[in-house]
Amino acid sequence: MPKRNVDLYYAYQESPPYIYHAFEAVERGTGVDGDAVKQRLAELLDTTPNSDDFHYDVMSIDIPEQAPMPVIRRPMPVTCLDAQYEYKCPSCGRKLIPNAGYNYCPECGTHLEWP
Ligand SMILES: [Zn+2]
Repeated sequence: MPKRNVDLYYAYQESPPYIYHAFEAVERGTGVDGDAVKQRLAELLDTTPNSDDFHYDVMSIDIPEQAPMPVIRRPMPVTCLDAQYEYKCPSCGRKLIPNAGYNYCPECGTHLEWP
């Protein structure tokens, strides 16, 4: 089965008691500036690349050519819950913290597009 070669940029920020994650996948060989990706991920996590609480790595992964492009879905508003959880994942229903810096559901991996 043909494979696509992807560089998965991975970052997380420790903010006890939470750890926030951010990812960006890039087709290998497209000349993407890794430092620019690092900067974007840091901004998503509301920190800076040089911060002690910012952790960053890149891994190369091969995914099947037939892998579907991720479906981007909008988190659904939830009412009558703790104000910290105003949204839920439209796929699995997991409660989400708005503006926590992640664009993927930590439970099921659905790509989220925040309103
Ligand atoms: Zn989900």
